Amino acid sequence: MKVCEIFTSIQGESSYAGVPCTFVRLAECNLRCLYCDTQYSYANGIEMSVEEILNHVKLVGVNLVEITGGEPLLQEAETLQLITSLLDDGYEVLLETNGSLSIKDIDRRAVIILDVKTPGSGMNSEMDLTNLGFIKPSDEIKFVICSREDYEWSRSFIAENGLKGRCTILFSPALGMLQPVLLARWIIEDRLDVRLNTQIHKYIFGTDERMV
Ligand code: SF4
Repeated sequence: MKVCEIFTSIQGESSYAGVPCTFVRLAECNLRCLYCDTQYSYANGIEMSVEEILNHVKLVGVNLVEITGGEPLLQEAETLQLITSLLDDGYEVLLETNGSLSIKDIDRRAVIILDVKTPGSGMNSEMDLTNLGFIKPSDEIKFVICSREDYEWSRSFIAENGLKGRCTILFSPALGMLQPVLLARWIIEDRLDVRLNTQIHKYIFGTDERMV
């Protein structure tokens, strides 16, 4: 597999925020979001077999593993195999994906964190909306919000697609584009049933640190 980096840190996002986690960041991405903070993952990465990745994760000894990117489903067959092997070995597995490729064949024991790209990302037209039909209650849907327009678009998207109550919904302020305090106020005003998702690893380690 093409691997960008493997590291262990504190999970900074999702309902798992604050928990120690090993991240397997796979290389390459098919999108180019305007706010992307992992552009270094676009490159080819280093070649590792599924077994080598498993051995590396085993040596670390942390039970929560997130497979991320880049876009991990670009390497579909091997990524699906990696997920199932980790689950079979007793790990709790999160799979973060940009929402443009199908999630239907992912092992249902994994927790999928599915991006819905807002207009502010510049990649909204790339979404595979059939993915919404495969979401389980244990999965999470993430909107990265760049502006008030993105917020209103996301609020409408949730209503129009009947997402309320189906799984955890995360609203993340795009770093440097939208102040978290504004997004928090809008959520409170609207009594919106979503979770504010603030990338706590960036508050802890700084915005320019890699492998955190
Ligand atoms: S999907 Fe993720 S890695 Fe790819 S361009 Fe968008 S933010 Fe960057």
